[in-house]
Amino acid sequence: MKLQKRCWHWRVLLLPLALLLFTCIFSYVQFVEHEYADLQAERYEQAQVLPVAAESALSDYVIAVREFLAAAPTETLTAPWEFYHYNAARSVAIGALRALPDTRDASCTARPFHLPTQRAGVSIIIAFHNEARSALLRTVMTLYHRTPQRYLHELILIDDCSADVDLLPAMLNLQLPPFMRNFSSSSPPMTTANYASLHPSANSSDSAPTSQPQVTIKSARNTQRLGVIVSRNRGARLATGDYLLFLDSHCEVNVGWLEPLLERLAIGAAAVSPVLDSINAESLEYTASSKYLMGGFDWNLHFHWIPRPQSTQSQSQRGDKYKQQQQQQQAFAESLNGHAAFSWARRRFNEARSQHNTNTAATAFKSPTFAGGIFMISREWFNKLNGFNPLLQTWGGESIEFSIKLWLCGGQIEIVPCSRVGHIFRKQHPFHFPNGSDSQTTYLRNSKIIAESWFDAYKYFFYASKPAAKHIPLSSNDTEQSHQLRLALNCQPFSWYLQNVFPQLKLPNDEFIAFGALSSGELCLHIANYATSQLRMTSCFQNDVTHWYLHRHNSQLQASSGTCLHVVADVPMRATKLRNSTRSTHFRVVLRPCVDQEVGERGHNQRANQKQTPNQRWLRRGGLLVHQQTQLCLDNPLSDVVVVSHCRNAAPSQLFRFAMELQRL
Ligand code: UDP
Ligand code: MN
Repeated sequence: MKLQKRCWHWRVLLLPLALLLFTCIFSYVQFVEHEYADLQAERYEQAQVLPVAAESALSDYVIAVREFLAAAPTETLTAPWEFYHYNAARSVAIGALRALPDTRDASCTARPFHLPTQRAGVSIIIAFHNEARSALLRTVMTLYHRTPQRYLHELILIDDCSADVDLLPAMLNLQLPPFMRNFSSSSPPMTTANYASLHPSANSSDSAPTSQPQVTIKSARNTQRLGVIVSRNRGARLATGDYLLFLDSHCEVNVGWLEPLLERLAIGAAAVSPVLDSINAESLEYTASSKYLMGGFDWNLHFHWIPRPQSTQSQSQRGDKYKQQQQQQQAFAESLNGHAAFSWARRRFNEARSQHNTNTAATAFKSPTFAGGIFMISREWFNKLNGFNPLLQTWGGESIEFSIKLWLCGGQIEIVPCSRVGHIFRKQHPFHFPNGSDSQTTYLRNSKIIAESWFDAYKYFFYASKPAAKHIPLSSNDTEQSHQLRLALNCQPFSWYLQNVFPQLKLPNDEFIAFGALSSGELCLHIANYATSQLRMTSCFQNDVTHWYLHRHNSQLQASSGTCLHVVADVPMRATKLRNSTRSTHFRVVLRPCVDQEVGERGHNQRANQKQTPNQRWLRRGGLLVHQQTQLCLDNPLSDVVVVSHCRNAAPSQLFRFAMELQRL
């Protein structure tokens, strides 16, 4: 009984204790969640819905814009050209919005675009560093003004540590003007009627809304400079829309820019670019760009506009692998199950394939790379490819890299001429490059990562164009992620891209028959000591292993150092006996300055050249490298030794391979 009583006391005590414990655990969980939420809020500033001013508040808005522009830091106002490399005063004078010439082909407005009927929200991502307030505001304002609201899911602004620290908060404080008003002083206010005339495809829900629309803006500021690549990835992580659009902070989207892009994405294109119209950096004049240019690059990995093939090439001309890729794309579209926008896309994908559109001025066309870095892609595709390669630093090469990986891993890129976006093209970077680097070194390093990640043996073309890149140190970590991605997504080799997507990127085989590291088995021919010109065979994995170039015109085998492989006789050669000589031990392989290289390389005066370089001519016979004058073969008879010896067909020690063979052996 006593015992029972004591237990009863215990129970009375236990109950509040248990309650206390429960409360503690609950509060702790709440606290942790709260802390975590705070952390998130700090890292990714919360989404904000910008209020839209009423029509009656228009003048307040104009005043607010004036104040916003005037509050820019003084150094940007006193030396604007140095700061922005475009005419910032003119940009202020133009205002937040101006009427632009309609640069589309007339046929673009003659047909309705097939827009998704389901949810297809676009997240617009703008990373900026030291952008003029006026230019950024105009970029945002044109988007707001010329994008059908039902597709404008959100704007994401990433301030990459701009000197103007107040710009972002000031932008967010600025109320947006009444929808569909044109603030250009020279043009009349836009009405629902003329909106409709500019948007022939607009159905009733596209027309100028009468209710107060809202625009969600998400924003973040990098507390240290991270560069456009990492900043855009950061923006993409914040995005929740179906599609991502990457835009520079000095653009003006033109009328009807989104619909043609949406149409192409919805019917199966993986990624699309508008035609980038040009905004002159000095006059800020907006002019049409050619719709006959596509994006490409050279072996230096510099971006170029190149003429697109005359007519839309038929798929059958592009080979079986292209068809295979198309099937992959369709399979991917089909794998996006349950997503309304995409099920609609599947239907349209099939419809569109059967359509034959002959109007090349208005037809979307395939492009090896995006037009500049401005493009739209489904969020799924972007994430599938792990976004931009974050190992590329600050600025440069990221859209070329993204284009290559998109094509190789099952996607494709189209430029859509009916979509027009103006961009201020600057002649040079106004910004500095962090970490004591400069634009050239950064670009070279980024290019090297791209070449090492995606080019396979074609990277030697890159190194041949940019020998300085060889000396830039990279670790295996710099390419590991891309290699993993290639395996995971079963991506095509780079040769596929050259054959099927970018045949315009010519191999420099006019000049060379073969080039790159020259191996026999596991070993490579290497200049062990440049001072003594000592030659030997060494491991091909050695970092600075010598690259060789077998010239087409003069048959010289030239090292990247500029010297040539040469054969000398230990005893004076008697020309009459040379050809039939069996005493190969009399000959040694050495390095000598290339003789008359200029004449040979240019292919001038071949006969004279032949006379001048008899000891430096090497012929490719199968896998053999035959010294023309002695008819002896390059040989690696033992360990690191390299000699010339009597040619024996299929002798393994005489079989040599260049990393890049440009003609059939
Ligand atoms: N940018 C950035 N961080 C940087 C460099 C550039 O956010 O470190 C932004 C820049 O403000 C612009 C975009 O990235 O919005 C592309 O840069 P830029 O316009 O200079 O490149 P270009 O158009 O000349 O290729
Ligand atoms: Mn730009």
